[in-house]
Amino acid sequence: MLIDQHQRVHNYLRISLTDACNFRCFYCMPNEEVEVSPMSKLMSKDEIVAFATLFVSLGVDKIRLTGGEPLVRKDFAKIILALSALPVTLSITTNGVLVHKYIEVFKQAQLRSINVSLDTLNAATFLALTKRDQFQQVKDNIDLLIAHDFSVKVNVVTMNGINHQEINSFVRWTQAEPIHVRFIEFMPFSQNQWMSQKVFTYQQILQTIGHEFSYIKIKDGKNDTTKKYKVLNHAGTFAIISTMTAPFCGNCNRLRLTADGKMKNCLFSKTETDLLTLMRSGVNMIDAITQNVLLKEKALGGQLLTDFTQIETQELENRSMIAIGG
Ligand code: SAM
Ligand code: SF4
Repeated sequence: MLIDQHQRVHNYLRISLTDACNFRCFYCMPNEEVEVSPMSKLMSKDEIVAFATLFVSLGVDKIRLTGGEPLVRKDFAKIILALSALPVTLSITTNGVLVHKYIEVFKQAQLRSINVSLDTLNAATFLALTKRDQFQQVKDNIDLLIAHDFSVKVNVVTMNGINHQEINSFVRWTQAEPIHVRFIEFMPFSQNQWMSQKVFTYQQILQTIGHEFSYIKIKDGKNDTTKKYKVLNHAGTFAIISTMTAPFCGNCNRLRLTADGKMKNCLFSKTETDLLTLMRSGVNMIDAITQNVLLKEKALGGQLLTDFTQIETQELENRSMIAIGG
């Protein structure tokens, strides 16, 4: 088992399949043209399966595929079908735009729950946020997933002055549809135009929802990053991921593998372990993995520990979100 110095058991691995994406969300990636890694620097399908198998042998029983956009990888179907042979709960986080091409693959891989990111219900705002005119395709694909009985979580990065006005439209959406909307506090990463004034906090989100709806708290799972709520008589739920104002590191069970094969023990960790080079050199990786877990900081990678209004983004040591794998 992968246990850190704070007695946290790590059974959840998030694997980034690529640092490339077909969207250009400003909060996730640098503004200028970013260079994506050449395929030779990325984990191959067989390397991904070998890593997953190794982590499963060390106690991992939940794997999420992410990126960049995982569905832009040409061998995505082969990867997920190979991983579905492992004794794990598999899931994926996607921007949704290619989902219609993979419904049958998702079923074959026995995926039950899929996270789709959608920050706005307005086509013009969608274009401004992602630089792609694909609102309707993403919305249609969420409807398609619901029609095929997948459990759909909708990730909404909630930013003051950008989309906070739409919070209640998202909650209204949960009335008839069994979706789970998750409002995510805006987090700072390398070159992502983060400013503390753009953070719309957990408390502000709840207050906004309280102006229109009566909601109840529902039970969170032991390792959940979300605080879950429900408006009575709504088919779906809403939740808040409050990384900036009420972090949830105490029960963290997550580890990450970037698309170029570096292990990170936290989204905000400064250090990485280059597992792909070790694998390609034929070195046994178990010591490196256990050491990486032991070095995990108590909270937020040892960064972002001040009140969020005091954070100096130039002092953060990290990659951009798109290069980590969210
Ligand atoms: N391309 C996929 C997608 O958009 O869902 C998967 C990768 S994306 C990096 C994973 C998640 O991270 C998305 O839900 C995205 O909205 C979220 N994310 C990206 N940058 C963020 C930021 N600065 N703060 C909070 N969440 C962020
Ligand atoms: Fe791409 Fe997802 Fe990042 Fe948007 S949030 S740029 S869709 S990886």
